[in-house]
Amino acid sequence: MISCRDAMDIIRKTAEGRRPETILCPVTGIPGYVAAEDVAAPLSIQPFDNSAMDGFAVIRADLESANENSPAALQVAATVAAGDSADGITVARGSCARIMTGAPVPAGADAVVPVEMAEMQDGTALFKTCPRPFDHIRRAGEDFKKGDAVLVKGQMLGEAHILPLATLGIAEVSVYRKPRAAFLATGKELVDDLAKPLSGGEIYNSNGPYGKAVLERLGAEVVAAETVPDDAEAFADTLQKLAGENLDLIVSSGAVSAGAFDFVRRVLEKNGAEILYHKIAMKPGKPNLFARLPNGTLYFGLPGNPVATAVGLRFFVDAALRAMTGRAAEKPVPAVAETPFSKKPGLQMFLKADARIGEEGRLAVRFSAGQMSFMVHPFLTANCWAVAPEAASEIRAGETVEIYPFFPHSGIV
Ligand code: AMP
Ligand code: MG
Repeated sequence: MISCRDAMDIIRKTAEGRRPETILCPVTGIPGYVAAEDVAAPLSIQPFDNSAMDGFAVIRADLESANENSPAALQVAATVAAGDSADGITVARGSCARIMTGAPVPAGADAVVPVEMAEMQDGTALFKTCPRPFDHIRRAGEDFKKGDAVLVKGQMLGEAHILPLATLGIAEVSVYRKPRAAFLATGKELVDDLAKPLSGGEIYNSNGPYGKAVLERLGAEVVAAETVPDDAEAFADTLQKLAGENLDLIVSSGAVSAGAFDFVRRVLEKNGAEILYHKIAMKPGKPNLFARLPNGTLYFGLPGNPVATAVGLRFFVDAALRAMTGRAAEKPVPAVAETPFSKKPGLQMFLKADARIGEEGRLAVRFSAGQMSFMVHPFLTANCWAVAPEAASEIRAGETVEIYPFFPHSGIV
């Protein structure tokens, strides 16, 4: 039995060697992909000085003595709308230009006065105050300077990145192809058809749909999801069939403990797989197995209890996907335990929990009721996982614990 930390080290070292090739992804499709190279701003944004308001582009020197009693009158010499070019337009002393939001500021002007603060009379605009330098002008390069860092290699991309990338005119991003994964649910008690009434000894296959959805959430492409009965030969056949799928990763649930029908390890060994660890000092999910198949595909054998499978996916499979795509290991967030929790020393526990900002403005966490590995009720409300260290025999209220968002990339917990 090895520690969680050692298991993570083995996973990272093994998975780093299986980096997917890079592809060009259109900017609209980037969420869920990992950047494969640094990206710098190809131009400055804003590309040109432009107006932040509908108003008048003026020369401040003309308005220096303008006040309530003696407004300054400027001749409106031009009009520039968003999309117009201001090339060839110059604001001369004593005149101004009508300007719309987003329109380029003509040469000569050094401020914009909003339309609400001026009065139009025939071809003249009256101003009662003098703006500050560059008032209501979005300066060229204020948002990005050409060459500024935009994306960093090894960064998970999301919807938020689309806005700056599109703003900068970046149509495609070099990303890693998503690791190709298969999810296998094992167990002859499993019923895949959730609409079918259960009969004696049967349960619904919940790990199957959950595993597929979570693998996708973690950045994998799920190319196969199958249910295998408790039959070593059927399992061997499935592995054989999947060998042609060019998979980076196979994740299975069930049949890795010490039961009479726990055949996963036996079949893997018989097929020439290298077992990299089997059994982690953790709960839920101690009989966790990690192997490499002869064709290089990584294999996670997760125990079938749904919470054990969920923890295996969330922490161990995620660690592999991170390492494959050159991402850094995940870092926990500290939070103060509001409730105590007692445990046996010797196993690191992953506890479903709720984190929120407590009274003193600190992140506070409560452990969900129902931490047994078969109980999925807390999945309805938990927003994070709290880690109870291997050596600890209890967590006292007021103690700081490490927490992780329920799913990675889900923002601030
Ligand atoms: P195992 O790891 O195969 O010994 O399974 C441990 C427990 O998890 C048993 O109670 C199984 O019935 C249950 N289990 C295994 N696979 C699934 C699954 N795909 N969906 C729901 N429960 C499962
Ligand atoms: Mg089983």
